[in-house]
Amino acid sequence: MRPFQHLTIVFGSVMAMLVVTCIQYQLSWWWLVIVALVYVHFLVLGAIFIRWNFYVQSFGKGTNKLWVSLTFDDGPAKYTQPILDILAEKQVPATFFAIGKNVVAHPEVVKRWDHEGHLIGNHSYGHGFNFDWQSTKEMTKEIESTNDVIASIIGKRPRLFRPPYGVTNPNLAKAINRAKMHSIAWNIRSFDTKSKDPDQLLNRILDRLSGGDIILLHDSMGITHEILTELIERTQQNGFTFVPLDKMLDIHAYS
Ligand SMILES: [Zn+2]
Repeated sequence: MRPFQHLTIVFGSVMAMLVVTCIQYQLSWWWLVIVALVYVHFLVLGAIFIRWNFYVQSFGKGTNKLWVSLTFDDGPAKYTQPILDILAEKQVPATFFAIGKNVVAHPEVVKRWDHEGHLIGNHSYGHGFNFDWQSTKEMTKEIESTNDVIASIIGKRPRLFRPPYGVTNPNLAKAINRAKMHSIAWNIRSFDTKSKDPDQLLNRILDRLSGGDIILLHDSMGITHEILTELIERTQQNGFTFVPLDKMLDIHAYS
């Protein structure tokens, strides 16, 4: 059972006891409202913080103290090819969580990812703002159709899935299960989509770096391309080796 199921059982029990207490001892009914608000509060936090594993178990960190994994979300995008040039020059493998509709627009990038030894994961088909409000059926369709287009290009079906915006909920948990995907989180969030200062971005990552880290970056961001060479060099100077996610987590990236 996931934490949200435990919490729901506790919530149901507390509410039942409160109803009885309210009737027997004429306790204020506001207590029911307060407990319900606390419950909803945790449901929302559990959706936002993927690393709580509240609705679905996600991989967030490896155990090898000498390895680090780079992950890039939202491609194929504007800076994917320049980022690939740096990774090729440095001979560093990475994992790219692709958006299905971008894959359809840029199949040549997907081929390049595969040819150059990078892993390709699934990051939904449309990455819309309404993604998390969809039914399990709709979410499963997004995941499956992204897997279909990637498989049609590289002949392999991804099994790694990163939830858009890092948000999870019960419907998505079911969709991930149905599509037989591994949910992948991170333990270093770079905030590269919001960063304006390259040095600050670089230090935010490097200051927290330790073995087993999964670093979340975006190949849609110019600033990410800007810091990548130094990020790789300084990480390696600190004694770490870059590995793809399947090696880091000892799981299969494709089915
Ligand atoms: Zn994304």
